[in-house]
Amino acid sequence: MKKILSAILILCAAVLFAQEAPKTQNVILVTFDGYRWQEMFKGAQKQLIGNKKLVKDIPALQNKYWSEDANTRREKLTPFIWNTVAKQGSIIGERKNAAKMKVTNPMRFSYPGYNEIFSGYGDPKVNSNDFPDNPNLTIFDLLQADDKLKNKLVAVATWDAFPRIINSKRNGVPAYVNIKDSAGKCTSGNLTYAGWSQPCPPSNGFITDDSLTYHFAKEYIAKNHPRFAFIGFDETDHFGHEGQYDSYLNSANQLDGYLQDLWNFIQTDPQYQNNTTLIITCDHGRGPAAANMWRHHGQGILAADKIWLAAVGAGIKNEGVLKSGHFYQKQTAATIAKLFGKKFYEAEKFGKPIDEILK
Ligand SMILES: [Zn+2]
Repeated sequence: MKKILSAILILCAAVLFAQEAPKTQNVILVTFDGYRWQEMFKGAQKQLIGNKKLVKDIPALQNKYWSEDANTRREKLTPFIWNTVAKQGSIIGERKNAAKMKVTNPMRFSYPGYNEIFSGYGDPKVNSNDFPDNPNLTIFDLLQADDKLKNKLVAVATWDAFPRIINSKRNGVPAYVNIKDSAGKCTSGNLTYAGWSQPCPPSNGFITDDSLTYHFAKEYIAKNHPRFAFIGFDETDHFGHEGQYDSYLNSANQLDGYLQDLWNFIQTDPQYQNNTTLIITCDHGRGPAAANMWRHHGQGILAADKIWLAAVGAGIKNEGVLKSGHFYQKQTAATIAKLFGKKFYEAEKFGKPIDEILK
């Protein structure tokens, strides 16, 4: 009897222990620039994948990404998002009979969108991609002011506006951007990463080189173990503007592959396993498929305010596709702050944490 009782006690303790949510120690935020909610939730779009002005080899692209069933299509296009993030975490923005997500800035282009993600506020004064150093305090300033997190933050991105958006001059957070292979070393403007030990990975030949961004970011993360890392990809937006739907889809598929690779690394790294949160989102949407508006975004494209956000890992509920509610880009900063057990700056204008996906 005693044996049975102690076995029951051990079992109860195990259940209690299992129910205690692991605390987030690290957050990795990844953005797919200008990647539409339509492809995220419904995969390749019929009107676009079959248009020979937008696709060089229609049968080959259809073979890769097409199915009559929208759920199969999205799994073919971004398998990590649908087989891992949606099954273990939460995803917002499917719109039809599900949760909706929008930007609140009136611009619907990149600097204003990233400002809204980082600063928790869709500041209408931020009205240009050439805007100077960001006057708004951001999640980077908040975390950098914490002694336990100080100098454990990094940004790696394809687009060279990020040092201004993050305001690295103000907070000292390194922002490695527009990474080039220079004499076998990865360099980024004036910043050369001294810890880099290998030749820079080969470029994929795309103009915007998200492959360099990813491999540099992974190497940096593996060596330096930042507590908060931002990785900003750009090719989806670039190929959207170019009207190359095949390259737009291939980029999304490749970025999804990077996420899978990063997730595999997180699961096996002693600092990151079981206590790291991965958040993936975008800076803005794009127009609808009709009249080729999918290529564009900005103030005149009202539908480009529609975005999405996906999250998985420590501190994130397993809600799958969130079924209801209206969410906003400005909530991202407070959500990251809350994962670190912190409150974002106090003011009415700042978005609140997305508690619906937080444990
Ligand atoms: Zn754009």
